[in-house]
Amino acid sequence: PDAFLSVRDLRVHFSTEDGLVKAVDGLSFDLERGQTLGIVGESGSGKSVTNLSILGLHNPQSSTITGEILLDGQDLTDASDKELEKLRGNKMAMIFQDALTALSPYYTVGRQIAEPYMKHTGASKKEARARAVEMLGKVGIPDPKNRVDDYPHQFSGGMRQRAMIAMSLVCNPELLIADEPTTALDVTVQAQILDLLKDLQQEFGSAIILITHDLGVVANVADDLLVMYAGRAVERGSVREVLKRPEHPYTWGLLGSMPRLASDVSEPLRPIPGSPPSLLNPPAGCAFNPRCDYVDLVGGGRCTSERPLLPAGRGSACHLEAERKQQVFIEKIQPR
Ligand code: SF4
Ligand code: MG
Repeated sequence: PDAFLSVRDLRVHFSTEDGLVKAVDGLSFDLERGQTLGIVGESGSGKSVTNLSILGLHNPQSSTITGEILLDGQDLTDASDKELEKLRGNKMAMIFQDALTALSPYYTVGRQIAEPYMKHTGASKKEARARAVEMLGKVGIPDPKNRVDDYPHQFSGGMRQRAMIAMSLVCNPELLIADEPTTALDVTVQAQILDLLKDLQQEFGSAIILITHDLGVVANVADDLLVMYAGRAVERGSVREVLKRPEHPYTWGLLGSMPRLASDVSEPLRPIPGSPPSLLNPPAGCAFNPRCDYVDLVGGGRCTSERPLLPAGRGSACHLEAERKQQVFIEKIQPR
């Protein structure tokens, strides 16, 4: 049987004046209800386009999409605008990085939470207002009865983020996509918001996709992890497996640029040298090869000629032999 969300060989290609941009190029993953999948990568890795295309918001006029996005058995790549409209904010919802882009400054917070509820459930104004108060309470806004008629600018940044989460969750979505939901917030509020998402997931049983460039964010929240690079998944596994024994040199790089906890705080961050490749003309073979320190360990020029494939289940898309990966990781990468 299919997973609740099953993405199969998804390709999202944009035609531009300069040529074809393969923003997502052959991505597959599964997600079950009540589970959280972290999708990690730098900007331009395809993580945001993937999720916009699940919601049907990938700018369909200028792109072609192939493959399947099966949500509860329905292929969203074949869904009409009308069908997608019915699903968005209802069966699936999105939490954005910046609440100010999702909330209108002209309407009260309560009205903006109530509106999708009325639209999708047919509730009356009065019922929807009561629901808005209830949701503000659930996301931890103190004294929600007296805050429901406030405008977004009367809320702090953290409270706005909570209000947006309330808006996203008001129809009990079964799939929640959170794109860098805490990046704009300070560390304490970040932790509170992530805790909140976990609590709400327990209550609603939603499947969550958490998109981030920060492995630290997914470490505490996600069950499974997908590392994306240049429009493809390069590593997949449970969060525990990937963080304990990461296999792909790109994932090693991400770990190096992750703030260390406790004892190692003085150690400077080591960003991955170089920058992500152009998606117009990605390097032949492994797209990571211009930035990879381990090309010579593979031999035969395979890294620059042959595209490594990601196996199903736990694994990574890299030509390095398994024993070599372990050896390099233990000797060079693993934090002492
Ligand atoms: Fe590095 Fe080669 Fe592995 Fe790509 S396939 S990550 S270039 S070792
Ligand atoms: Mg299709």
